[in-house]
Amino acid sequence: MFSNFFKKDNENSKDLKDMTLNVKINRCPQNHPCPSVRVCPVGALTQKGYTAPVVDMDKCIKCGKCSRFCPMRALVLE
Ligand code: SF4
Repeated sequence: MFSNFFKKDNENSKDLKDMTLNVKINRCPQNHPCPSVRVCPVGALTQKGYTAPVVDMDKCIKCGKCSRFCPMRALVLE
């Protein structure tokens, strides 16, 4: 009954190393400069024109800032 109460916070979540940042193209309206590109602290996101942003996973530190910033939830750390 109380088993969930005693679970560690990360018990049900993946390790960061197993996660990736996925761009959900169908959620991105692709009609504006992506605001999340500017919040990435390591320059891992790029955008050509108004297309959906592309992530460079060699640069990405999986901080989740872009994911939290995107109002369309088009950037998902999963
Ligand atoms: S998760 Fe962090 S490092 Fe990775 S692309 Fe988003 S803002 Fe940049």
